[in-house]
Amino acid sequence: AKGASKQTAVLFTPDMLTAQNQRRQMEQDLRHAVANGDLQLFYQPLVDMKTRKIVAFEALVRWLHPTFGMLPPDVFIPLAEEINVIDQLGNWVIRTACAQAAQWPCGIAVAVNVSPLQFRETSLLPTIINALSSSGLAPRRLELELTESTLLNQSDDLMRTLSSIRDLGVKLAMDDFGTGYSSLSYLERFRFDKIKIDKKFIQSMSASVETSAIVSAIINLSQTIGARTTAEGIETEEQFDQISERGCNQGQGYLFSRPVAATEIGALIDDYGCL
Ligand code: C2E
Ligand code: CA
Ligand code: CA
Ligand code: CA
Repeated sequence: AKGASKQTAVLFTPDMLTAQNQRRQMEQDLRHAVANGDLQLFYQPLVDMKTRKIVAFEALVRWLHPTFGMLPPDVFIPLAEEINVIDQLGNWVIRTACAQAAQWPCGIAVAVNVSPLQFRETSLLPTIINALSSSGLAPRRLELELTESTLLNQSDDLMRTLSSIRDLGVKLAMDDFGTGYSSLSYLERFRFDKIKIDKKFIQSMSASVETSAIVSAIINLSQTIGARTTAEGIETEEQFDQISERGCNQGQGYLFSRPVAATEIGALIDDYGCL
């Protein structure tokens, strides 16, 4: 009995109660935001390394929280996954990104991040099909960015869904390449249109010959399997030059632009031009 009361005391300190309440409040707020679309898409340009013209924008979701202000996705995407609203959130992102991209000039593409959990639900494929048809966006202008963990379990369902998406003409990109489970076997089982080199490699290239060699190897490997490459997190002209020399196709990073609100896209296109 003594042990039990001690345990109770440990479980319910005032601090923990507050933390628990805050967490519950946060969950409730997120459910509400997702249901009401109180989310916003920011967009960051991907530029062609040869011309520096804009070829695509990556959609990056933000949550305008009533008391905490603008929250970054690292804060609420994991929570959305935990409380099972990631499908609803992810579907909203796909519909909104397609509708906005349909207004852009030069056939600029839109890249959308997809959580591994979205592949567990049956709503992903119909959502993509509907978003494309109701926006009129050409399927080749939509790119889905998947992480390596999506391919951890190569189930028949997953492979079928990926094939169906590919059959629509939608492009598939491998995001954060080299940071995940780093098994190259999925590259053999499924052909990606694009490999995105994680910013951690780009940002340590100049300090490390090993990293620099890894980046070269990723670019060569991508070329061999017929995939394009995008380097993430380019912040300096030095990084741009190093990446450019190695034959990377596209670049993304603060050097060109931070993610911006949809209303600022026109000004970016005026500055950079598009292909
Ligand atoms: P990510 O897909 O790797 O996106 C790139 C992140 O790097 C973005 O952070 C972007 O703002 C940041 N970034 C871009 N250029 C630079 C740079 O030059 N330097 C540095 N230090 N950072 C740079 P953000 O917007 O905070 O997004 C974080 C992550 O949240 C994304 O990483 C992605 O995994 C996830 N995410 C964002 N939107 C969505 C979404 O709609 N659905 C899902 N499932 N995940 C999303
Ligand atoms: Ca991404
Ligand atoms: Ca990434
Ligand atoms: Ca990343």
